[in-house]
Amino acid sequence: MIIEHLSCGSLCPHGRRWLSGADAGHEPAELCCHCLLIHGPDGLILVDTGFGRADLRASSTRLGRSFTAIARPRLDESLCAIAQIEARGFRAADVRHILLTHLDLDHAGGLSDFPQATVHVHQAEHQAAMHPHLRERARYRACQWQHPVRWQVHAGEGESWMGLHGIKALPGSGDDILLIPLPGHTRGHCGIAVRSPAGWLLHAGDAYFHHGEMLDPPRYPAAIEVVESLLNVDRRQRRLNRDRLRALAQRRQADVRVFCAHDPQELKLLQAAGQV
Ligand SMILES: [Zn+2]
Repeated sequence: MIIEHLSCGSLCPHGRRWLSGADAGHEPAELCCHCLLIHGPDGLILVDTGFGRADLRASSTRLGRSFTAIARPRLDESLCAIAQIEARGFRAADVRHILLTHLDLDHAGGLSDFPQATVHVHQAEHQAAMHPHLRERARYRACQWQHPVRWQVHAGEGESWMGLHGIKALPGSGDDILLIPLPGHTRGHCGIAVRSPAGWLLHAGDAYFHHGEMLDPPRYPAAIEVVESLLNVDRRQRRLNRDRLRALAQRRQADVRVFCAHDPQELKLLQAAGQV
């Protein structure tokens, strides 16, 4: 099984200094949309999708004017998962499964590029996205799943996994790909754990935003906490799950690699380590 680390989108909000640290300069930040492309025995599997082609072609209608103005996504279609997959000689239909950490617009945008894939998401997240509360309406964009999506909704907590819980997501993959419920950022937010030949990878989605949050003691810019609190649906749960992730990352450094969706430094390090 080969696992590639891709960035399927780029966010360039103003305030790099606030988001990355005082020595980072005054130019806009550049945040990635970290996705995994897994070459499995029965086809390709994507973990998160970043933005899709349609999002970048009609960004203000698909993503909304306020998100586009604040997050400033780079309108570069070569970043889309479908473009990167085609550049490797595959077709959209070769992607058999998509696992999503959550359904926020910067994670689910690529769904419409892979209409034949089975889409795995936690039940609480599916429920939130299909029936959003007032303050959730801007983050979920129904246009991203207007096509007939083959949803596979997973419920509950699953079984014990390294001090957390994991739901076996793909029948036939054994215990190798798990949804790890980590609610707080959104109602049904999950991490996705993938067993690679070099150990476990845990894509923590938006459970945290900056690599310094996984250090012991944590060291990260104060603005990160402000942004996370503005975006979370449950602050207490988000912080509790971040603490659990940090404990896991510290305790099992040798056999679990934890990373989040938007930290470019984590992506760079994992890409430099090569395919596994
Ligand atoms: Zn995100």
